[in-house]
Amino acid sequence: MSEKIARFFAERQPATPCLVVDLDIVDENFTSLTAALPDAKIYYAVKANPAPEILSLLAARGSSFDTASVPEIEMVLAAGVTPDRISYGNTIKKQRDVARAFELGVRLFAFDSIGELDKIAQSAPGSRVFCRILTSGEGAEWPLSRKFGCDPHMARALLIAAAGKGLVPYGVSFHVGSQQKDPTQWDTALRTVAEMFHDLEALGITLSMVNLGGGFATRYRTDVPEAEAYGNAILDSLRRHFGNRIPETIVEPGRSMVGNAGVIESEVVLISTKSANDNRRWVYLDIGKFGGLAETMDEAIQYPIVTNRDGDGETDSVILAGPTCDSADVLYEKSDYRLPVDLAIGDRIRIHAAGAYTTTYASVNFNGFTPLAQYYI
Ligand SMILES: *Cc1c(COP(=O)(O)O)cnc(C)c1O
Repeated sequence: MSEKIARFFAERQPATPCLVVDLDIVDENFTSLTAALPDAKIYYAVKANPAPEILSLLAARGSSFDTASVPEIEMVLAAGVTPDRISYGNTIKKQRDVARAFELGVRLFAFDSIGELDKIAQSAPGSRVFCRILTSGEGAEWPLSRKFGCDPHMARALLIAAAGKGLVPYGVSFHVGSQQKDPTQWDTALRTVAEMFHDLEALGITLSMVNLGGGFATRYRTDVPEAEAYGNAILDSLRRHFGNRIPETIVEPGRSMVGNAGVIESEVVLISTKSANDNRRWVYLDIGKFGGLAETMDEAIQYPIVTNRDGDGETDSVILAGPTCDSADVLYEKSDYRLPVDLAIGDRIRIHAAGAYTTTYASVNFNGFTPLAQYYI
């Protein structure tokens, strides 16, 4: 935890649960990714954390933005970003939202089907479009496969169709899965994309851009590769598959830009067992799946959890759960989480690396609990 965040908790003693984000760390994350991929344009995936403070900081750093809805586009515009730095990257958009985005000046759109391409051709004429292809999501802790993208053959046909519909077939995108800890996973997709560039060139369509998506990992309970390792692996694949004709590249980091910048403070509401001889404690926190920790679904994302009593004392294995009346609101039951045996009701605990995919995943008022409070310092 950064000194700045530690000081904030100590001095302010904010009501829990709350997220505190250190903006200096976001700034450092931007710097390291830029250094790792100097030729790639960064489109921050707004959904990871759309706080105005984060959008303004990244806007000032020269970032572009990947958005998924009209409200996200409006938030980015409100941060002073011009629409030429915005991509409407969701492949599932209402026709009227495409029209609204076009009205707001957005000219870069994603698609992965003929239905979506038709909407863009009709409501955003002349725009640049890129087609998303399927990836396996192998190696990712939060895979995105199947729902998004189409197979490369369909993508090729759709890019040809795009030209026929008066759009600019601009490029190809993919996403190797979020929290992708294997930097070589970009390679298979890049080989496919290079083949598509080549095949389309022969048909008179010159694509310009490869969108490498997000997937860069944040450190949770185990080490992850540095930005540099991702950069090296990707540059190596680009050189291998495109030779001396490397196209324009885009990256869309979400998690890696903000994840490690945020810490959630929470309070222990109850510690209990289910019978006299049950020796595994249930620890109920004032935050759960519906309060912002949705990525604990299937125990996929495993946040580091720290208490004030950590140290040399004894620990034992616990089940961690949230405070709501839904039985799905259990955070970790199968994973090995150990907490101090002297942990007590009323203790504050900290959930690290919680800057991404938390505030916007909090339910509005389930059980009357208010959405996650947030501070940007
Ligand atoms: C969610 C998303 C991202 C961000 O992914 P991370 O794994 O958080 O970096 C990037 N691009 C698209 C299209 C997305 O949907």
